[in-house]
Amino acid sequence: MKSNNKAVVVFSGGQDSTTCLFWALNKFDHVEVVTFDYNQRHNEEIEVAKEIAGDMDVRHHVLDMSLLNQLAPNALTRDDIEVKDGEDGELPSTFVPGRNLLFLSFATILARQIGAKHIVTGVCETDFSGYPDCRDVFIKSLNVTLNLSMDDEFVLHTPLMWLDKAQTWQMADQLDAFDYVREKTLTCYNGVRGDGCGECPACHLRKNGLETYLAQKEVTK
Ligand code: ZN
Repeated sequence: MKSNNKAVVVFSGGQDSTTCLFWALNKFDHVEVVTFDYNQRHNEEIEVAKEIAGDMDVRHHVLDMSLLNQLAPNALTRDDIEVKDGEDGELPSTFVPGRNLLFLSFATILARQIGAKHIVTGVCETDFSGYPDCRDVFIKSLNVTLNLSMDDEFVLHTPLMWLDKAQTWQMADQLDAFDYVREKTLTCYNGVRGDGCGECPACHLRKNGLETYLAQKEVTK
């Protein structure tokens, strides 16, 4: 008998989670995606996610997580909090306490409901923005906890965990998704699709990775 080959991808419509969606479609027979609505500054994010899910013909779940904003106001949800990197070991203003703990827990509960064993997330320790819940040790610990909590055998997959942004572009390219990811996804904190506003920390990170990847590709041609 074939083992369970169904996956849920935690999906925001950004570069990372869209690359993860392509990765999952390549690896699993059946893929569904879940987007969390926590009053992101740009509802555009949910629209983009919907559109990409439609393009890929995968079922799209949108779960209301507005309580996260109620508990932990942050720069991603509030216009009056500036988006900035943390200084001297401080966490950046975009950090949302408990976000991945909650998102991955709810994604796993959803997975259980639809009979999926695999949960895919684009968290990454390499381009470390200082988010403690993007670390590999956290994901492994949560995986154990989730399995104990539901007496089950879920697997949390983190295909981007050890990649830098240039390598994430490379992965998209290897999955024949480079142009799609570049044009359709939304990573920018100011809600501008594709190459973005060019000013915010998310755009800087994405642009640096893209330029590095394109330069490397040029050299190895
Ligand atoms: Zn931007």
